[in-house]
Amino acid sequence: MQKDSFLKFKNVIKKSNNIVITTHFSPDGDAMGSSLALYNYLLKLKKKVKVVVPNAYPEFLDWLPGNNQVIIHQKNEAKVEKLVKAADLIFTLDFNSLKRIEKLGLVLEKAIAPIVMVDHHQQPDKYASYYFHDVAACSTCELIFELIVGIGGKALIDKKIAACLYTGLMTDTGSFRYPSVTSKTHLILSELLKTGMVPADVHSAVYDTYSYERLKLLGYLLSEKMELVKDVPAAYFAISEKELQKFNYKKGDTEGIVNYPFSIKGIKVCAMFTESEEGYIKISFRSKGKIDVNKFAREHFNGGGHINAAGGRSDITLAETVTKFTTLAKTLF
Ligand code: 5GP
Ligand code: MN
Repeated sequence: MQKDSFLKFKNVIKKSNNIVITTHFSPDGDAMGSSLALYNYLLKLKKKVKVVVPNAYPEFLDWLPGNNQVIIHQKNEAKVEKLVKAADLIFTLDFNSLKRIEKLGLVLEKAIAPIVMVDHHQQPDKYASYYFHDVAACSTCELIFELIVGIGGKALIDKKIAACLYTGLMTDTGSFRYPSVTSKTHLILSELLKTGMVPADVHSAVYDTYSYERLKLLGYLLSEKMELVKDVPAAYFAISEKELQKFNYKKGDTEGIVNYPFSIKGIKVCAMFTESEEGYIKISFRSKGKIDVNKFAREHFNGGGHINAAGGRSDITLAETVTKFTTLAKTLF
């Protein structure tokens, strides 16, 4: 845990007027929820603030308050460079290595403004000037709540900010069922509910938005593509681009599917390998208990994340990646 004092955060925010918030490549619910919660909060402090993301995010997050103002680096490189140059404070949320924002990392490396890291992933890099980092937090949204309250902003947390925070808390905890959930998480939820934010509406906005094809894809993956690893309690999916196209794939359509094999008795590790439009194999790992997929992803698949949920990438073929995984899987047990 590395947390600078609330006084430091209060002061640096107070003297900054041009704030840029950014988050990791392929933003998820926690990435967008934390970014837009902080965005809406800083707007209330009358700051000039922009949210910049490396690439597009799934449609099920586009109802989040402030979504219309988000700038995508891949589509607006020049604009983003200008904003970062003009910024007097930069927040990097839900990641801790500039590699995680791909080309946007090069822009941030050149930034003059101090950087604040707010994150809950393992092994943070040292690129920031201020840290609010805690691997025990269930989500970056939990940390943003703590930070806002810590600097005296609790009264400004309204329904909109609460909905953003609830989104990240909900998505990063598998709807409040992972071991990362603590009494603190529930105390935060209780505070968020007091704003009048309706959890059922957030849940529905995020999870009841699938297309017909997306549900068919889930059925296909479960019935045709789920494989068990020989001799160890691990399961995986390997999905080609062609298969995704067949189901009219949209960003986010495979989110959460990696976890399904956990409902098979005894399974301790799940993996998903997906051919991505970026030209490499995108990998997701999930584990139970002490099995450390962060370490596994860092050592073998150019990635990282949390002990029980990590990601990575592979530049060899899909079949070769699967063979590499099934060969190495025994080292996890
Ligand atoms: P997911 O499998 O949902 O994409 O990611 C699981 C967790 O690992 C998330 O917390 C995500 O931020 C992190 N993660 C995903 N891909 C990478 C990666 O390539 N590198 C690192 N360091 N972390 C990743
Ligand atoms: Mn997160």
